[in-house]
Amino acid sequence: MTAWPGRTALVTGGAGFIGSHLVDRLVDEGARVRVLDDFSTGSESNLARSGEAIQVHRGDLRDGEAVREALNGCDVVFHLAAIPSVPRSVDDPETTHAVNVTGTLALLEACREVGVRRLVMAASCAAYGNEPTLPKSETLPPHPESPYACQKLMCEEYCRLYASLYGLETVSLRFFNVFGPRQSPESDYAAAIPRFVTSCLEERPITIFGDGEQTRDFVYVEDVATACLLAADAEAAVGQVINIAGGKRISVNDIVAIVRRLTDCKVGPSYLEVRDGDVRHSEANVAKACDLLKFVSQVDLESGLERTIAHFRSPEELT
Ligand code: NAD
Repeated sequence: MTAWPGRTALVTGGAGFIGSHLVDRLVDEGARVRVLDDFSTGSESNLARSGEAIQVHRGDLRDGEAVREALNGCDVVFHLAAIPSVPRSVDDPETTHAVNVTGTLALLEACREVGVRRLVMAASCAAYGNEPTLPKSETLPPHPESPYACQKLMCEEYCRLYASLYGLETVSLRFFNVFGPRQSPESDYAAAIPRFVTSCLEERPITIFGDGEQTRDFVYVEDVATACLLAADAEAAVGQVINIAGGKRISVNDIVAIVRRLTDCKVGPSYLEVRDGDVRHSEANVAKACDLLKFVSQVDLESGLERTIAHFRSPEELT
């Protein structure tokens, strides 16, 4: 990995779950780090570990002036700011489009204008949809099942175009199901693992949408931060779309069983209707990440869950 001291990186969405882990990692590597975030779902507490070492720009991705100010002098941009929710996008396609697509396009334009070298974009496995082939390789035709998936796919296409048309080095990383400390369990749109963990710790029934036999490919958040750092410099990655995942799938029922065992939870799950836009099975082919980025996930599911549970038991400890 190329050394970071002396380089300036901007993390959009840096106060969020994945973004804040990436910020911590960049600070540890010696980079000068800026964050652009409107704190709509992100929080100050997520940035507590890197605190004084970073420069925070509180602003909206769609505000050209705020973006240009945050970008000035940056070598690399990690673009994670988004409204990252399938159900929210189903409820409100227009607002999510405005942030996820129009915001990304505005950022790409500003990068081109200011002369940023590379932008690493947080894309999503949602782009694959319910096309039945497993594991999912990047060469499969995309099949978005929700506005969110469609929006993330459009961002990938804009990134590819900005690389070929304008020479801005872009890399789209299709994250699969990321989990770990700081992931919010709270909103109506919260991801599964933090909801399962907090339900178990509070001895409340875990809610599963559908029959629980749907599968997901989970990847620990610190592994995702590593993948982002690798994507910032890998030469062969420019203009590419690359899966970032653990490379194994597990059913939601099996995840719940592990979380219940690790938390010693006696309360069983309850099942609700499957949600619109939810995908049935998901598993990544991770060969391209290994080939182009030399990325292989290091933290197995059970160790990641143990760390996540420890965080939710003592959220005030800096993780
Ligand atoms: P998150 O909600 O914790 O982080 C998103 C951040 O973006 C928040 O800090 C939020 O305040 C900020 N933000 C939202 N709208 C903004 C705006 N208009 N201007 C500036 N900042 C804004 O979500 P996350 O799980 O950390 O996701 C980060 C990225 O990774 C997203 O782009 C998401 O689509 C992508 N992703 C996440 C997963 C996952 O499993 N969590 C999977 C695939 C892709």
